[in-house]
Amino acid sequence: MTKAIFLDRDGVINQERKDYVKNIEEFVIFENIHDAITLIKNHNFLVILITNQSAVNRKLLTIENLDKIHEKLQNYLKMHNTSFDGVYFCPHMPNENCNCRKPKPGLIIKAKNDFKIDLSQSFMIGDSQTDVQAAESAGCKGILLKQNQTLLELVVDLFESEKI
Ligand SMILES: [Mg+2]
Ligand SMILES: [Zn+2]
Repeated sequence: MTKAIFLDRDGVINQERKDYVKNIEEFVIFENIHDAITLIKNHNFLVILITNQSAVNRKLLTIENLDKIHEKLQNYLKMHNTSFDGVYFCPHMPNENCNCRKPKPGLIIKAKNDFKIDLSQSFMIGDSQTDVQAAESAGCKGILLKQNQTLLELVVDLFESEKI
């Protein structure tokens, strides 16, 4: 049985920017992210990135630059002997009414089908209510990262709580 922890990107993995992360220079990874991801994988969960990137269809960010950003992230993690198992993004703007922009569950469902994930054993961690809503619509548990809480702190708590 495959289980996964889905992670939001901006505000969880890297510094959020009100004007969007538009290039590799603006992509600033938080400390200890690799430790959090390693800990998750040691508990036999896949780690999958689920991110809204409407900057693409707002024409502020090219797909090429988005790919470069995610390549930088994966290379950074690989340097620390870990990586995301999957990376899923929604390029759409809210008015496009797609089924993949969180709070819609489309990206989580796509990952579930690609990896045959048991969502009832899986979690989505994000810093926004829309992350929690997407999780609940998909049928997994949503966990809200608190302000001033790091992903590593949340993940340590989660596994120590023995809720999973
Ligand atoms: Mg976020
Ligand atoms: Zn979408």
